[in-house]
Amino acid sequence: MPTKKDNVDLICSIGELAGLFEKSASLEDFLQTVVSIVAYHMRAAVCSVYIYEEDTQELVLTATQGLSMENAGQVRLKLGEGLTGLALKELRPIREGSGFHNPHFKYIPGIYEEKYQAFLAVPILRGLTRVGVMVLQDPVTDYFDENDTKALQAIAAQLATTIENAKLLMTLHRMRSDLAAELKEAEAEFRETPRFIKGSPGAGGYATGRPTIFSAAGEQFVVDDAPAGAGGTLEDFERALKRTEEQLEDLQVQLEEKLADVASMIFSAHILIVKDPKFSGSMSELIRNGMSARNAIITVVGNYISMFAESKNPRLREKVQDLKDLGHRLIHNLGTNQDDVGDYADHVVIAGELLPSDVLKLHAQNAAGIIMVGGGMTAHVAILARSLDLPMAIVNDRILFDLPPDRMLLVDGDQGNVYIDPDDEVLSQFREMEESRREAESFAASWEGPLVTRDGVAVRILANINMLSELEAARRLKAEGVGLYRSEFPFIVRSNFPSEEEQYRVYRTLVEGMGDRPVTMRTLDVGGDKALSYFPGKQESNPFLGLRAIRFSLRYKDVFIQQLRAMIRAGEGHALRIMFPLISSVDDFLEARGILRQCIEDLGRENVPHHPRPDVGVMIELPAAVEVVDELAAEADFLSIGGNDLVQYTLAVDRTNEHISDMYLTHHPAVLRALKRIAVAAQKHKRSLSFCGEVASNPRLFTYLAGIGVRDFSVDARAIPRIHKALTSLSVKDAEAFSGKLLATATIRDIEKIAIPAPGGSS
Ligand code: PEP
Ligand code: MG
Repeated sequence: MPTKKDNVDLICSIGELAGLFEKSASLEDFLQTVVSIVAYHMRAAVCSVYIYEEDTQELVLTATQGLSMENAGQVRLKLGEGLTGLALKELRPIREGSGFHNPHFKYIPGIYEEKYQAFLAVPILRGLTRVGVMVLQDPVTDYFDENDTKALQAIAAQLATTIENAKLLMTLHRMRSDLAAELKEAEAEFRETPRFIKGSPGAGGYATGRPTIFSAAGEQFVVDDAPAGAGGTLEDFERALKRTEEQLEDLQVQLEEKLADVASMIFSAHILIVKDPKFSGSMSELIRNGMSARNAIITVVGNYISMFAESKNPRLREKVQDLKDLGHRLIHNLGTNQDDVGDYADHVVIAGELLPSDVLKLHAQNAAGIIMVGGGMTAHVAILARSLDLPMAIVNDRILFDLPPDRMLLVDGDQGNVYIDPDDEVLSQFREMEESRREAESFAASWEGPLVTRDGVAVRILANINMLSELEAARRLKAEGVGLYRSEFPFIVRSNFPSEEEQYRVYRTLVEGMGDRPVTMRTLDVGGDKALSYFPGKQESNPFLGLRAIRFSLRYKDVFIQQLRAMIRAGEGHALRIMFPLISSVDDFLEARGILRQCIEDLGRENVPHHPRPDVGVMIELPAAVEVVDELAAEADFLSIGGNDLVQYTLAVDRTNEHISDMYLTHHPAVLRALKRIAVAAQKHKRSLSFCGEVASNPRLFTYLAGIGVRDFSVDARAIPRIHKALTSLSVKDAEAFSGKLLATATIRDIEKIAIPAPGGSS
C-alpha cells in the first residue's frame, strides 16, 4: 500500500497556492490543481472540492481528482444533504472509516458509492461564512486518521479567502445574463465652484493634484483622460491586458514587501478579474466584431460596474472601484508603454466611502491625497491615511464630485481645508509650512538625552504605531517606546483572521524594531466602526455601543487567546506591556488578565519561549471605567487614557460624525474632570499613566494634561516634532495653575475664555 506523505509538507505546498492561483486561468483550473496536489500527498483515491452557492443554498461539485470530471458542475447537494452537506451545515469535519454505514450517507452513482469506504469531509469557512467543502475518499477502510483531518482543515483555512474572492466572480457571471447592458447617463449638476471649502482634519500634511472620483456604487465608468488616439486593435488589447496583469502583480508584490503586516492579497480582486477569461473574452469578442479596443473596454467594464453596483451582495458592491481602476489601467496601457500609468499619481482622490483596504490601494497607486465627502468614514480610515502619510480632509460639500478633471486641488490635512485652483500665494504658504515642519522634524531627530519641560520636569514622548512601516519614523524621531500599538490593522485589512504565527511575526518585528524601549500592545479593538468584513457577527444597530474591543475578545476567546499568546511570545526578552481597550468594569479587567495569565502558564508548560510577566494595563475610555478608576488602578500595572473614545463616550458624540463635530469638545468640563480623576487614581496607586490620542495639535488639552500630572504622551509619529516642541517650551508650574482654573470653571464658554499659558512664557 502506498504510504501517505508528511502532512506538514502538504500544508506548506498549499501555503504556496495563492501564488499558484495567480497563474491559473480560472477558479476551476485553480481548484483542479489543488485537488490533484492534495490527492497525491494524501495518497487518496479521490479528492474533490464542492463550492457553496449562497443564493441556491447548494453545494456544487467544482473540481475533482479521482471522480469523473463529467460530474463537475452537475452534482448539487443541499445544505445538510449527505455527509458532505452535513459537514457544511454543522460546520464540522466528518470522518468515517466506511462512510456508507452512516445514516446520512447518500448514494450518488459515480460519486458516493460503496467502493469508496473511507470518507473525510471538512468545511471550508471564512470566519463563519460557508465557502465550500473539501472531501477525500478512498477504497481502504479506516484510511484517514486524526492527522489527516487536521491537515485538511489547515488546507481548507488557507484556501478559503481565495475561493471566496473567486466566488464573487462566479456570482457575477450568473448575474450577467440577467441584467441589461445599458450605460446610465449621469448628469453633472451644474453650479459655480467655490474656491475654498472648510472641512475638518483627517490626516496631516498637504497635497496638490487633479481631482479623481473614487467609488460611489452605481456610477458609470467615465473615461476622460485616456491618451488620444488610443483606439486599438485586438493585438493592442492583448498587449494591454498582459501588461495590466503584470503591473497588478508587481503592485501586490511591492506592497507586500513594504507593508508585510497588513497588505496580503490587497489586489487579489483586480488580479482575479483581469485573469478571468470571461471578462477579457467579452472584450476580445467585441473587438473581433469590429469595435475598437478602447470602446470594448469601456463597454464591458461599464457593464460589469452596473452589475456589481446593483448587486445585493455588499462584497460585490465593494468591488466597483476595483473595476474602475482596472478599466482605467487597461485603457492607459492601450496607448502607452509607460509604467506609472493607470494609477493615481498627481491626483487627489475624492471619495464618498472608503474601506481600509482602499486606502492601502490608493497609497500603492501613488495617490497624492484624499478628500472624504460626507458620512462614509471610519476612524480607522483616517488613522490608516495618517500612518501612510497620505493627507486627508473631511468635508461635506458634494460639489467636489462634479469638479471637471482639469481643476487643481490643494488638500490641507492639518486644518481639513480644500482649496480649488489655489493661487501662487496659497501654494507658497503651504510650501513654507512644510519647510518648517521638516525643520521641526530634524530638530526632534537630533535630540539627545532625556526630554524635560522648560522648568526641568521629565516627560516622555511615545509613538502610536498602527503599521510596522511607521517604526522607522518612530525611531528616527526618538520616541521613547511605543505607547499604543493598534493591533487590529493586520486583522482589518486582511480578509481573514491572521493565525497565531502570523501575528507573532508582526509583533516580534515590532518589539525587535524598538530594541530595549518598551512596547505597549493593545489587544484587538474591533467592532464599532471597525467591523471585520469577514466576520459576519450580528448587524448591530448601534455598533459603538455594541460588541467592540475587549467585549469582542471576551466573547470570542479563541481569537483572544491566539492574540495574547502571539504577543507574549513576541515580547520574550523585551520590555512588553499589554493593555485592554474599552474596559468598563474591574470584572472585565480581571477576566481579561486571568486569560492572559493562563496563556503565560500554558506557554511555560509547552516550553515555548515567552515573556514571563508583561505589565498589564487598562485603557480608560469609558465613563464607567472612570467611576471605578481607583479600583482599576489598584489592580492594573498601568493606566492609559484613550482620549478619542473617552470624549466620545463621555459626551455621547460619535467621533466619526461630521455633523456634530462641533460638539466633540475635549475641553468640556465633564471631560476635564474625568481626566483629573484618572490622574489622581494613578498618582495614588503610583501607576504610570499615559495619554494616547490626538493631543498634539490641541494646546489647551495638552497643557491641561501636563497640569494634572500626565507625563507620558503617545502620539502618531508625524505629530512627534510638534509635541516635542510644545513639551520643551512648557512650564509645568504654569500648566498646573491653568488646569486649576479650568477645573474650577463650570461652562464651556468660560473655559474657552481662560488663556493658555504662552509657550516659553513668564515663569
Ligand atoms: C483612543 O480612543 O483615544 C485611542 C487611542 O484608541 P482608538 O483611537 O484606536 O480608538
Ligand atoms: Mg479607543
